[in-house]
Amino acid sequence: MTDYSIYRVMIENALDAFFLTKPDGTILDVNAAASSMFGYSLEEFKVIGRQGIIDIDSPGLNAFLEERRKKGKVICELIGIKKNGERFPIWVSSVIFKQDEQEEKTFTIIQDITERKRKEQELRTSEANMRMILDNTDELFIIIDRNLKVINFNKATEVKSQQLLGVPFEKGKSILDSAQPERVPLLKQLYADVLNGAVRKSVVEIPAIHGNSKVVVDIRYSPIYEDGLIVGAIINVRDITETKAKEEELLRTNERFFFAAKATNDAIWDWDIQNDKVFRVGDGLQSMFGYDKSIAAQDDTFWIQRVHPEDLDDMISKREKILYHTNELYWEDEYRFRKSDDTYAHVFDKGYIIRDANGTPVRMIGATQDVSQQKETEALLVELNNRLKRRAEELANSNIELERFAYIASHDLQEPLRMVTSFLQLLKKRYVEKLDETADQYIAFAVDGAERMKTLIMDLLDYSRVGSNTEPNENVDLNILIEEVKGVFSKTIDESKAHITVGPLPIVKGNRTQLLQLFQNLIGNAIKYQKDESPVIQISCTEQEEEYLFEIKDNGIGIDPAFHEKIFVIFHRLHSRSEYTGTGIGLAICKKIVERHNGKIWVKSMPGQGSSFFFTLGKR
Ligand code: ADP
Repeated sequence: MTDYSIYRVMIENALDAFFLTKPDGTILDVNAAASSMFGYSLEEFKVIGRQGIIDIDSPGLNAFLEERRKKGKVICELIGIKKNGERFPIWVSSVIFKQDEQEEKTFTIIQDITERKRKEQELRTSEANMRMILDNTDELFIIIDRNLKVINFNKATEVKSQQLLGVPFEKGKSILDSAQPERVPLLKQLYADVLNGAVRKSVVEIPAIHGNSKVVVDIRYSPIYEDGLIVGAIINVRDITETKAKEEELLRTNERFFFAAKATNDAIWDWDIQNDKVFRVGDGLQSMFGYDKSIAAQDDTFWIQRVHPEDLDDMISKREKILYHTNELYWEDEYRFRKSDDTYAHVFDKGYIIRDANGTPVRMIGATQDVSQQKETEALLVELNNRLKRRAEELANSNIELERFAYIASHDLQEPLRMVTSFLQLLKKRYVEKLDETADQYIAFAVDGAERMKTLIMDLLDYSRVGSNTEPNENVDLNILIEEVKGVFSKTIDESKAHITVGPLPIVKGNRTQLLQLFQNLIGNAIKYQKDESPVIQISCTEQEEEYLFEIKDNGIGIDPAFHEKIFVIFHRLHSRSEYTGTGIGLAICKKIVERHNGKIWVKSMPGQGSSFFFTLGKR
């Protein structure tokens, strides 16, 4: 094989297209790659020539031809045309040569660079995209080489590095030039690590610059590889001031929530409704019900399982109704809950419902309270109340019975008493001084006893009548009424030289007979309970919003405070009959009358300093 034929084999097997042409463009020879690149056979190439396979509009075609003419060779990118008309980028290397006396020929190698072009374009696009992303992000990206020299950075770095890091960056300068001096040793170590393949992260707090509040940045340092070698590093800076502040606020809120949960004895819960997960806080679950929070957390049905079977359906249906059939934001219920010792606690459970924009409940946060004690106290109170009611009824009944008894006794006793009295009078009339002295004395005792019995019976009758009196209320002018009372006592008043002053008194609505008796008893006592002086009695009235307040003040013997209440009890007396006559019924009657007129009665007094009896009468 000649040298020539070796080249021929090489050319025939090459991947690039080979062309042998005359200077006018006539194609003399091609290799197989040329045919498969353009789609023409050698014969066809010979017919169409160079003009048929190179686009005459290829930019740079003229320059190509001129340079080849001048220098004898050229390399250039042109546009090729395939047999099917498709145009494609080609890389053309062409040389003019002359062998011996033969005419000039050109030898041209053409490479299809469609694929390379496509890749280049792709790279350009992806680079542009990258650049766009980098320039549109808020994050800072700085690229440095192995000598820590700043190679490139994005727009955000240009705009914000001063504000975020307190320093500007300059291409070509060492990254350490823009670091705070005290951080330089640390950074040197860090970059050394990164350039050895490590990825480093750090969160740095930059103190306030130019009046801004402090800035927190998250910095990442990563090595840049090229063909498996580390050629530099990329530094990525993120402003996390706001995130950090939010995190801290969240932490504080959580902390507050935690402490609030601790401060209350309630069992606090947070129910993620959609995932049906419950998160529990505070010690309430343990202290009230004896359960460990972590154990409860392991079982999604922990709570439901422990609600009293009799209360469960009701509790769930009420809760579902509020959650899914209303827009309410609060839920509350009371039910029984089984404690760890298997006894049931009465709980009051309440929650705040968080809904999404559609109103669907997504979360409910609440607190459970053990109200067993309250429940017991409530039940006890109800029981006590019932007992009190029963007792009051019993008392009322016994009062009615007492009144009835007093009435019957006093009424029915009158007749036999009258008989005893009249026969005693007869006995006295006929036999006085006819029997011996002792007999006379006995008769006198008997007459006296009968007299006393009579007053007692009359007083008792009065007392019992207050309760059974059904006279309708009328307007009573108390000024007139007092004159009447004074008339009743005129003899005693004269004898004792009593001085009675009466302030202006109102007209009240009430039972006239009873009001007369009330004033009569009180004025009577004021005259009666005197030592040696003449009684001085002041009767006055003050009008109040809902009632009248009356005062009957005397200058008499006074009453020890120990007896201020007792004197209003029937038959209660402080003196012997020999000192002051009386039955001990008067004030009991007064109390009853005042109470029937919606009022109260009481006394202010000290022994030896006179007494003031106060009572009120309702205006209506
Ligand atoms: P009586 O006067 O028949 O004993 P009361 O019920 O009217 O019964 O009075 C009860 C007691 O209150 C009297 O025994 C007397 O000790 C005391 N008392 C009543 N009014 C006065 C008064 N104005 N001053 C001092 N003590 C009085």
